[in-house]
This record gives sequence, C-alpha cells and structure tokens, in this order.
Amino acid sequence: MNDAAPDYDVAVIGGGFVGSMAAIMLRKRGLRVAVLEARAAGQAPKTVVGEALTEGTSVFLHHEIGLGEWLREHAFRKFGFDFVTQPRDQPAPRDLDGCHELLLSLTPLERLPSAFPRLIPTYHVHRPPLDAEIARRAQAAGADYMHGATVRHIELGQLDHRVDYEAAGEARSLACKWVLDVSGRRRVLGKQLGITRPVDDLQTAAIWARFTNLRTDGEFWQTFRGIDRRKHTIHFSGPGFWFWWIHIDANTTSVGVSFDKAQHQPDIKAEDRGFAEMVAKFPALGEALAGATPTEPFNYYAKLPYESEHWVSEAGYALIGDAVSFVDALYSIGIEMACRQLMAAVPLIEAACAGAQPCAKTIAQLNQDHQYTQESVRLLNRFKYTHAWHQPHILMQTALYDLAEIAELYHLQAAKHWTRRNLDRHYRLQWGTAARRDALVRFMDTAIADAQHDAGTGELLGKALLPGRLIYAVTFPLWHLPKARPYFFIITRAWGYMERMAQRFRLWPDFLTLMAGRRRREHRVLERATEL
Ligand SMILES: Cc1cc2nc3c(=O)[nH]c(=O)nc-3n(C[C@H](O)[C@H](O)[C@H](O)COP(=O)(O)OP(=O)(O)OC[C@H]3O[C@@H](n4cnc5c(N)ncnc54)[C@H](O)[C@@H]3O)c2cc1C
Repeated sequence: MNDAAPDYDVAVIGGGFVGSMAAIMLRKRGLRVAVLEARAAGQAPKTVVGEALTEGTSVFLHHEIGLGEWLREHAFRKFGFDFVTQPRDQPAPRDLDGCHELLLSLTPLERLPSAFPRLIPTYHVHRPPLDAEIARRAQAAGADYMHGATVRHIELGQLDHRVDYEAAGEARSLACKWVLDVSGRRRVLGKQLGITRPVDDLQTAAIWARFTNLRTDGEFWQTFRGIDRRKHTIHFSGPGFWFWWIHIDANTTSVGVSFDKAQHQPDIKAEDRGFAEMVAKFPALGEALAGATPTEPFNYYAKLPYESEHWVSEAGYALIGDAVSFVDALYSIGIEMACRQLMAAVPLIEAACAGAQPCAKTIAQLNQDHQYTQESVRLLNRFKYTHAWHQPHILMQTALYDLAEIAELYHLQAAKHWTRRNLDRHYRLQWGTAARRDALVRFMDTAIADAQHDAGTGELLGKALLPGRLIYAVTFPLWHLPKARPYFFIITRAWGYMERMAQRFRLWPDFLTLMAGRRRREHRVLERATEL
C-alpha cells in the first residue's frame, strides 16, 4: 500500500487501561508505538468500571507491567468472594443473615505466616488513578501518545495499514505495520469490518455508581466466624439479576446490578430510579445502602453482551479487551481476558514487525480458542440468569465448579514459581478448548436436578470455605511440593460434587456447613428467640 517506510510499527487505537498495557509491552520489545486516544490530555474517561482484579490480572500486572508495588500501596486487598441470595417463596429478609450465603474467605490464612505469602494477592481498585498510572508508564517507556486523536477509519493492507484520525479539527493519517484495536465498547475496527455481533440469547443490561457514606457498623458486615464481608467481592442475587458490591476504601464502594431484560424492566429513563427499583428487589441490600450517597451520576449500559467472529488476523491486526467481546462482569474476567490476549498477540506482533509472516495455523488456533471461550462464558452466564442466581444449590455448585477452572493459576503460587514456563501455561485462554466447554455443559445440565432441594424447607444454606489452620495442616504438602498446588482446585471441584451429594442425601456429611458452623447456629438461635 505504501512505498515509504511506515511511521510506526504499531498503531494502538485507544489509550485506556488495556491500550496502555499493550503500549508498555510493545515498547519493552523496542517497537515504535503510536497510541491514538480520543480523550484530550488529562481528561478522565466518562465511564470507568471494572474495579475488582482477579488473581490472573494481578499476576499479569505484577510480572508484565511492573505494578506489584503500586497495587500493594494503592489498592484494597481482597480475600475471596461472597454470594448472598434470598430464600424463595418467602418474604424477602431485611438483613443479610436471613439470606442464603456462600463465602470463600482466605482471611483465616492472614494469621498463618507460612501460608499467607503463598497466596496470589487480589485487589479492589480505584480505576481512574490505576488507568492514569499505566498511561504514564507507557509514555515514560517511549510510546508516542496522541491525545484528542479520534480514529475514523483504518485502511487495511497486508502488514501495511493507514490509520485515518481527526485531531485538533484536522483530518490526519499515519502508516503502520500492525493495528491494535483497544477502543473498548466503541469497537472501531470490529464495527468497520462487520465482525462484531450482539448476543441474541442473552439480553442483559447494567446500572451502577460509586457510593460514599456507607454504613460501617461491624456487626452488620460480620458473617461466619466474625469475618467482615467487605473484604470480599460480594454478590447479591435473585431471579435474573445480580448486584456487585466492591469495597474500594473506607469511603468508596462500587455497587451495580446486571439484569436480564426479559425478566426485569426497571425504569431506565432515569437510571437512579431504575437502580432503586432493582435494589427494592433485595431489601437487605437496601439496608446496606441506607444513608449512602452516590458520588457520580448513575451509569447505564442497555446492551451488555456482544461477541466477535475473530480477534487476530494474518493481515496484521488484533482486537483486544472490550474491543473484541464482553459478556458479563461476573468474576471480573474482562481485564484478565485482555491480559491473556496481550500475552498471545505481542510475540506475534514483534515477529511480524521484524519481517516474519504471521503463521496462519497459530492465528487460526488463537481464534478457535477464543470462540470456545466466548461460547463457554456466554453459556455459563445464560445459565446463571435463568437457573442459578436465585437457586442457592445451583449457585453454590457453580461457584465451586468455577473455582476449579482457575487451577492453572496455582502453578504460580508464590513468586518463585513465576517462571516463564508457568506463566505461559497460565496465560492460555480460559476455557479455550472444546473439552472444557463440553464439561461445563454437562455440569450445568446435571446441576439443574438439584434446583428444587431448598424450595419450601425454609432452611437457610449458610456455607463457607475457610482454609484455616486445620485445612493448612491437612493439605500441607500441596502448599509446599512443586506442581502440587493445582490439586487444591481439583479437590475443590470434587468438593463441589460432594456438596451435591449432601444436598440430595440427608445422611451425607456436609463439610461446608460444618466449616461455616457458627453463623448458622447463631441464626437458628435467633430464629428460636423470635419464635419465643
Ligand atoms: C458493568 C461492568 C462491570 C465490570 N466489572 C469488571 C471488574 O470488576 N473487573 C474487571 O476486570 N473487568 C470488569 N469489567 C470489564 C472492564 O471494565 C473492561 O474489560 C476494561 O475496563 C476494558 O478496558 P479497555 O482498555 O479495553 O477499554 P476502555 O477502558 O473503554 O478504553 C478504551 C479507550 O479507547 C478510546 N477510544 C474509543 N474510541 C476511540 C477512537 N475512535 N479513537 C481513539 N480512541 C478511542 C476511549 O476514549 C478509551 O480511552 C466490567 C465491565 C462492565 C461493563
């Protein structure tokens, strides 16, 4: 297309979180990088969401971007997840202890000096300062940031492209070998190529805001064995909806809801009214928000999920992060997926910019892996909105099942295991195989059988996975032997199946309830006291 030498090796469209990470990685490999960002210099993004970082994201930010220290200083360390759902066919309780609850908390390990350093730290963060820090590092690494530069069109060639953009009211263009589209939900290249499509069988939307003046009374937030719920990403769920509660610091919490529009039609002409309507469906959450004030106007996305046909091409382009697909915020996999994509794409780009023709087979495999991943995440989320969010047995089984899906990560437990080989193994796309997708489908089919077990009994499921001193002692070799750690997760999945047996057969030992013990007993005492 061009006779002259290209202006840049890579044009990165969008200087958000993922675009800036891409620029850092490409600069580390010595490539000439332009970042075209529509926002003016210093202008904060209008909408920023995605404050919970997974283990996978945390490892990536530490190892590939060098942000480990920054996170330790500026982010809130979290210790697992909490799922809270209301009893069915009964008046909705006004307090959290009246709800079913599944807690996975690593807080008991804080007290064990030999165990705690072996955990992979995970965080809740304020996104604007985190995004700004990554952008600052990308510029310091030598990426050429163009602020106020809005990309209008990309003329694609074969490893030879022209990017047309508008800056300071003028039409401009630049030439490059690779185009990396990280324009988020705008999906500049995906829309131009017509490869992005809405997800027809999952019609979900989201409303959210950040809040301050939140209630701080410890008793309200205490759950099993006195553990503070706010140290975990909390999910409050009911039929066809789930709320996230992400405690960022003593003054700020991000709260939002994702819901199936076929089951819920809140008034979204005013998002705050729509949000209040959804909160009213979970009164205990309303109590948690009593007196809280939003620090910003409510945000609303009318159509959450979309997918793309492919994400990387031999012609020399890739779509990464929200620019390629988004299904649901559940488990915060948005950024983690982008990290995994970057790990696959950057070596390809480096080789292509050095003159090598991208390998067609590798690219086909990456696109295939992505299709399996997209499909699995869509199937799992559709299942949750239809069958899981209001049925505690299914919710708990899926949470334990999902936990086992991150087994690879625990090859990385403790920094000394963060070898290149282990990191690469971890960065493979999650669920990126037909076998994993098929196993998920089988699991979901059989989980439905347990749905009705809690209906009508009036008994609460209060369950907790608390790897404390005893569990550490019993599983000691798994913490210390090389290559043994992933077995934790295999055991967790096996435990998930044991849970099923405990739900079906009264005499089967129910280990999770035994671990959770205290809150459940307290609840019974409370129930008895109110009866009297
Ligand atoms: C409701 C919700 C909750 C979420 N929660 C989580 C969570 O808890 N954890 C998590 O990991 N992920 C979460 N995610 C996903 C996460 O927010 C995103 O994956 C992540 O922020 C995407 O970053 P990005 O850089 O790809 O896109 P963005 O941050 O959107 O950046 C895109 C950039 O491109 C620029 N741009 C757009 N168009 C152009 C153009 N034409 N020319 C030049 N520049 C352009 C924009 O100005 C912007 O700066 C959530 C998502 C949603 C919707």
